[in-house]
Amino acid sequence: MQQFDTIAVIGAGTMGLTIALVCAMRCKKVFLVDVSVPQLENAKEKMRASLVQLMDNGLMAPGDLDEIINAVTYTADTSVGVAEADLIIEAVPEDKDLKRKIYAGLEAAARTDAVFASNTSGIPINCLAAMTRRPERFIGIHFYQPGHLIPLVEVVQGDNTPDALVKDVLEFVRRLGKKPVWVRKDIPGFIGNRLQHALSREAMSLMQKGIASAEDIDTVVKSSLALRMVFTGPIEQRDFNGLDIHVAVAEYLYPDLEDAKLPLAVLKDRADAGALGIKTGKGFFDWRTKDIKKISADKHRQLMEIIKLASRLG
Ligand code: NAD
Repeated sequence: MQQFDTIAVIGAGTMGLTIALVCAMRCKKVFLVDVSVPQLENAKEKMRASLVQLMDNGLMAPGDLDEIINAVTYTADTSVGVAEADLIIEAVPEDKDLKRKIYAGLEAAARTDAVFASNTSGIPINCLAAMTRRPERFIGIHFYQPGHLIPLVEVVQGDNTPDALVKDVLEFVRRLGKKPVWVRKDIPGFIGNRLQHALSREAMSLMQKGIASAEDIDTVVKSSLALRMVFTGPIEQRDFNGLDIHVAVAEYLYPDLEDAKLPLAVLKDRADAGALGIKTGKGFFDWRTKDIKKISADKHRQLMEIIKLASRLG
């Protein structure tokens, strides 16, 4: 069984820095590589802030933050960063050509037996694996943002990824303290994004049809489905509900559910007009007079309370 004791993370942005942090917290030898030195400096600061947040909220025992931060080697030199690595996790922007270029550089610098992984949100793993000379040692390891808080990691098997490698990676992810799932076939959106988009499409459709306000649609999810689904997923929950009842409802409801093949106007029109959400001050809601920093911090705190509760309840 492969242990993956030395990890290289390529890209020190939003995802790369949290992946490096999670590995460093579990005593892995970690190299964090980025073309941008300021980005590496920025990553260090953000990692420190994440550790403080985890400690302040009881998700990590008090300890020496510097020890974890300094366990990572920060480098702009790919050859230094990947030479020793057993596992190289790529987390550079979602751009196929860029990833292709980076894999070529990694092939030149990495050990021939090193495993390559991508944190891609949606580019097919088979497509990325085909850009390398090691499709049988290529796998998807998809962390969710914020990576230091969300337990789920999707481990995505490509057509050439052997089961044995998937099992080793699942075990590696478990040892990071995360909850891995095995995505057995390379499918767009993997599992989490498919479920999320199916729900969002229906929610936006209800809004577009004027069935309820955006606030009320969100309330339906926050005050019922989301609460139940912390403990029972959409499959197990049906067992509690009764499959006969589900069949009866599905027979009349499925034909009426939203099945648009393109983004709905209620979404597309806003995006085209530059109303992109909190980053531009307006999306489905108006954020312009709100204290976004405080709201984000509060939401993170609430998320941590739920994660603590969910882990206590199993
Ligand atoms: P990001 O833009 O925040 O960070 C990417 C980093 O890659 C930057 O620091 C950049 O300087 C660096 N980089 C660019 N070219 C490089 C090179 N040649 N060598 C080394 N570093 C290089 O991106 P992100 O949001 O962290 O996303 C990374 C990957 O993770 C993408 O594939 C994305 O789809 C996926 N992902 C993102 C999220 C999310 O919510 N942000 C969630 C899950 C998966």
